Amino acid sequence: MFGYAGKILFVDLSTRLIKTIPTDKYAADFLGGRGIATKIAYDLIPPDADALDPENVLVMMTGPLTGVAPSSSRIDIVSLSPVTNLLGGSSAGGDFGAALKFAGYDGIVITGRSKEPTCIRIIDDEVTFHDAEACWEYDVYDTVDCVKKLGREDVQVACIGKAGANLVKTAGISFSKRNLAARGGLGAVMGSKNLKAIAVAGTKGVKVRDTKRLMEVNFEIQKRIRESPAFKKYENWHANIALSLLKARRPYFGDYEEDYWEEAEEAVRNAKRFFEEMATLRPNSCFSCPLRCWAWVEYKDEEAPMVACQGTFPAILFILKIKDPELAWKVYLRLQREGMDIMGTAAVIAYASRLGLVKLGTEDILWLIDEIVNREGPGNVLAEGVKRASEHFGVPAVYVKGGMESWSSDVRPFRGVALAGAVSESGSISRAIHGFPASSYYTKPEKAKKVAREIVGDESAAEPTNYKGKAKLVAYFENEHIIADSLGVCDTPMLSIPLELWAEAFTAATGIEMSPEKLHFYAEKIRTLERMFNVRRGVNREEDTLSPRLFESVIRSGPWKGVKLDREKFERMKDEYYKLRGWDERGIPTEETLRKYELEW
Ligand code: SF4
Repeated sequence: MFGYAGKILFVDLSTRLIKTIPTDKYAADFLGGRGIATKIAYDLIPPDADALDPENVLVMMTGPLTGVAPSSSRIDIVSLSPVTNLLGGSSAGGDFGAALKFAGYDGIVITGRSKEPTCIRIIDDEVTFHDAEACWEYDVYDTVDCVKKLGREDVQVACIGKAGANLVKTAGISFSKRNLAARGGLGAVMGSKNLKAIAVAGTKGVKVRDTKRLMEVNFEIQKRIRESPAFKKYENWHANIALSLLKARRPYFGDYEEDYWEEAEEAVRNAKRFFEEMATLRPNSCFSCPLRCWAWVEYKDEEAPMVACQGTFPAILFILKIKDPELAWKVYLRLQREGMDIMGTAAVIAYASRLGLVKLGTEDILWLIDEIVNREGPGNVLAEGVKRASEHFGVPAVYVKGGMESWSSDVRPFRGVALAGAVSESGSISRAIHGFPASSYYTKPEKAKKVAREIVGDESAAEPTNYKGKAKLVAYFENEHIIADSLGVCDTPMLSIPLELWAEAFTAATGIEMSPEKLHFYAEKIRTLERMFNVRRGVNREEDTLSPRLFESVIRSGPWKGVKLDREKFERMKDEYYKLRGWDERGIPTEETLRKYELEW
C-alpha cells in the first residue's frame, strides 16, 4: 500500500497478545484516521458496554497523509466516552502520529485491561510491555521523562497523568507533554485499562506512489499556508486570541450565572502584558507544519505549550473569571501537567462555584483542581463531570449532547453551534464544526457571508442568531472536519486550503484517484456510521439536545441581552439536518441511506 504504513497493530492488554491486521481491510471503505477508527470501534465495542469496562476499545489511527504532507501531524482517537457513554473521539497533533507510521503502523487498537499498570513500547517491529507501577500517579511531564528512561530518548509518548489514572472524566491523553486529545475523557479510558503510556519510535518511512507529484503538491500547499492572511494572527497570537473571542462576542463567563463579565477586557489586557513582558515564548510547530501556531511558554522556570487555535487559555480567563495572569498561568500549567481537558474542567469548576464550593478568580481554583485530580472531598463527585455532578447536587448545569461540557462560547445566540453541540455524536463542538462562519461573523463579516453564500446560497445564514441555513452549514463543516481527521491533516490549515489540493496530495501519496466530491462522500459515509454506533446504543432524536437550562434562560446582559434559544425552532433545525443526512424524523439512518453508503447494522 502506498501512503499508508500497511498494517494496524492490535494489542490485547488482558492476554498480552499482539497481532497486526492489513490496513487495506478498511482503507478503501473508510479512508483512514477517524473513518477507520470508527469502523473498528463499531465492529469491536459491544453495544451494551460501559466506557470503563475492559470491553471498551481504544483506537488510535493516523491517516494516509499523516507524515507525508504539510500539517500532517494528526492522530485520531475513538472510543466509548466515559463522559457521555456514547461514541467519543478526539485528535491530537505533535509527532506521535508520524512516528507511529514510521514504525510501520497506521494505528493501534487497544483491547482488554492489564492486571497491573503497564506501558507499551513500540520500536519498529518490537512491541514490549513495561511495568508502570512506579509512575502510575505521575503527572504527564514526569511520565514522559520516566518513559524516555526506558532506553530510548527519542520515543514519542502518549500518556495519562494522575487524573487519567484516577478515572477523572475530564482527563485527556497527552502526547509528549505538548498536544492533548482533550475531549471526552479518553484519558480515563486509558486509566481503566491500567495503561499509563504508549511509547513509539520508528525508522521505516512511508512509501508513496508518486514522489515528484507529491512534492509539487506539498510545495503548493505550504506556500498557500504561509501566504494565507488567515494565519497572520499567529505571528502575534497569545492574548490576541482572547481578544478576538471577545470581539466575536463568543465567550461565556462562569457557569452562565452571569451573562457578561465587565472585567473581561481587563483580564485580556493583563494576559497580553504577561505574554509580552513577563513570560518567554519559543514558537514551535507540530510535525511538518509550516504554521508554528503554538509555543513553549516559560515563566519562573516552568514551561507549558500553548496552542493558539484552541482557545484554552481564554477559556481559563473567561470561564474561571481570572484577572490575575499569574494565577491564570498557574491554573493552565496545573491542568496541562495533569493532561486535563481545559474547557471541560473549567466548566466543572465554574459549576462548583454555583454550589458555593469555590470562588472564581481566586487561588481556591488550584485547591479544587487537586481535589478533582485526587478524587477527594467534593472533587470525587465533580470528577464525574457536570451532568453527573448536577444529578448528585440537584442544581441544574450547562452541558451539550450526552452531558459533555460545552465549549468556550455561549451556544444560545449561535444557533448553528447549538445544533452542532446537540447532533454531534461525541458532543464535542470543536470536533464537529471548527471554522464555522458564525464564529467569526463579527470579526470577518464579509468572509463569513461569502462562506454562507457558497454553501447555503444565502448570506444571511452566516448571521449567528438566524436559524435559517444552519443545518446545511453544520453538515458541511462536519464533513470537512471528518475529512481532515480521516486524512490525518490538522483541520486549521486544511480548511483554508482548497480541498482539491488535499485530494491531489492523497492521489499522489496513494496512487488512488481522489476528488473533493469523493472526499465528501467518504465523510457522509463515516458520519452515518458514527450515527449508527450511537443509535445501536439507544440514541435517537431525544438525545440530540442540550441541557434544559440552555433553553429556559434568556440572556440578561452584554451584547446578547434578550436573546433566547427557541426550542421549537431548534427542533426544526434538527429536522432539516436529519433530512440532509438521510435520517428519518427520529434521527435514524434510513434503509436507502444505508444502501447508498453500503453500510449494515
Ligand atoms: S496548525 Fe498548529 S496545531 Fe495544527 S498542525 Fe500546525 S502547529 Fe500543529
